[in-house]
Amino acid sequence: MKKGAAVARHRLAACTITLIALASILIGCAVTSDGNGTPTMSADDPAAKQVCFANQVAGQTEVFVWVNEGGRPMTGATVDGLVKVGALSKPVVCPAGGDFVFNPNDCTFTCSIHGWAPDGY
Ligand SMILES: [Zn+2]
Repeated sequence: MKKGAAVARHRLAACTITLIALASILIGCAVTSDGNGTPTMSADDPAAKQVCFANQVAGQTEVFVWVNEGGRPMTGATVDGLVKVGALSKPVVCPAGGDFVFNPNDCTFTCSIHGWAPDGY
């Protein structure tokens, strides 16, 4: 009995260390992939628009699923805020460095450079 508890404690400690390691990796990623910092494509590049729209649609889908599971999108929510509440697994990013405005009424994002991904994209 006592031995079992010691093993359990040991496992818990190992688990905690793993979680801390994972968290630091995630934080590292969040910092390096900060969407507004480093545009990787030109705003004039038509391919950037395609990537931007694809990212918007992926983000919309995630928020939709989150809302269906009981999440409540808040007015004025930011991309970072949606990541924080778990509506998005990662920030929606524009390869040309555009900023996104979230519309809580239809769970869509609008890019400051490329606008809104057309319906049915
Ligand atoms: Zn964009």
